[in-house]
Amino acid sequence: MAARLNRTDFHRWAARTRTTGGCLQPVHLRGAVEYRDALTGTLLHRYTTGREPGGTLRVACKTRRVSRCPSCAETYRADTYHLIRAGLTGGKGVLTTVTEHPAAFVTLTAPSFGAVHARRERDGKTLACRPRRDGGTCQHGRPVSCTTRHGAEDARLGQPLCAQCFDYRAAVLWNAHAPELWRRFTLAVRRHLARTAGLRAGELREVLTVSFAKVAEYQRRGLVHFHAVIRLDGPDGPAAAPPAWATHDALADAVRHARGAVTVRTPECGDVPALELVWGVQLDIRPIATTGALTDRAVAGYVAKYATKAAECVGTLDRRIRATDDVDGLPVTDHARRLITTCLRLGAVETFAGLRLAEWAHMLGFRGHFSTKSRAYSTTLGRLRAERCNHNQRAHEVTTGRLPFDDDAVLVVAHWRYVGQGLTPGERLLTTALTGTPLPALGTSTCARRPA
Ligand SMILES: [Zn+2]
Ligand SMILES: [Zn+2]
Ligand SMILES: [Zn+2]
Repeated sequence: MAARLNRTDFHRWAARTRTTGGCLQPVHLRGAVEYRDALTGTLLHRYTTGREPGGTLRVACKTRRVSRCPSCAETYRADTYHLIRAGLTGGKGVLTTVTEHPAAFVTLTAPSFGAVHARRERDGKTLACRPRRDGGTCQHGRPVSCTTRHGAEDARLGQPLCAQCFDYRAAVLWNAHAPELWRRFTLAVRRHLARTAGLRAGELREVLTVSFAKVAEYQRRGLVHFHAVIRLDGPDGPAAAPPAWATHDALADAVRHARGAVTVRTPECGDVPALELVWGVQLDIRPIATTGALTDRAVAGYVAKYATKAAECVGTLDRRIRATDDVDGLPVTDHARRLITTCLRLGAVETFAGLRLAEWAHMLGFRGHFSTKSRAYSTTLGRLRAERCNHNQRAHEVTTGRLPFDDDAVLVVAHWRYVGQGLTPGERLLTTALTGTPLPALGTSTCARRPA
């Protein structure tokens, strides 16, 4: 900190820190950009990183993970919020008539792969975890009953009652196939809607579009589940009204049917039996309204919050497992360690090579995207970022007057080279002091609590 503070270029360093929004792992670039008159080639303006502190320009990392960079994750969260909200209320290029289209907030879960400690609540009271009147033990001699009323921060939450009874192979294979289950689920929703209207599946898109936006969330037991906004539009997407038969009830029926209708089969291989992977029976479907129990604002908030979380919230790592890592020494929970070990072991089996389980061991086998949406849902993150970029550029021109060029008449020649990423511990502290962004907690989970 002292070394950085005592440099004569500290003010410039601090100004750049504010421009990156307090990013804690900025990318360092070296290079120059020239603005030339497109007709004459005259140099209008030249920027080089040579005058920046250390001769490099720092740009924000743009991660979505709050455990790595709270500031960039906050930008991502806010963008996701507006993207989801625009799909429910309009705005950002989506017509406000989209409010009248039926939409539901759906949560799809994984089935049980063995009993785990859980916190159950009813009417604000915490219930016993897993009471079994006849008690007894499993074949490994461990109790099958747990009468503890677990606190919200209890380290046992999500851990199995008996690790030997928990089916780790099926659990990681389920995570690995969750994106495929989702894909089949969306097809089944469309098929069921078509049947409701007496149409063939291929005829549906002439009258109806099913749009969705979804995020993956890890449960404490290390399995992903999906929260999704599913909306019914007319054939041209959000700008067109859906047919009269496409109601909230028709959507809920289709979701309920599709949850139970889809399976993914995995092959038998050595000591791993063939599996039939399905969704868990626990399904939540709630209609989204502009007022009342579940508002568009609340849904957008949930989805955006889940989008910045990752598997580290369940006690695993926020980076890939390296060949040099000693898995026994990793700072993860025993349950996560067993899931990781299972991924590494199955990852070496030829039959499962396509799942790249070793590469995604830190994600407990899930290699899908954290948030995805269908094309017609609303605007895109890319469009939101471009808009912000334009806004910042205009603000920059107003305050500095430095680039009063007409875009079409200027030739921009840029050369950039990546020279590294990150900050020293002292620079991280200075960054948080300058911008007020918090440091990610060390070694503890930075998860937001689930909404009640
Ligand atoms: Zn960042
Ligand atoms: Zn328990
Ligand atoms: Zn057991």
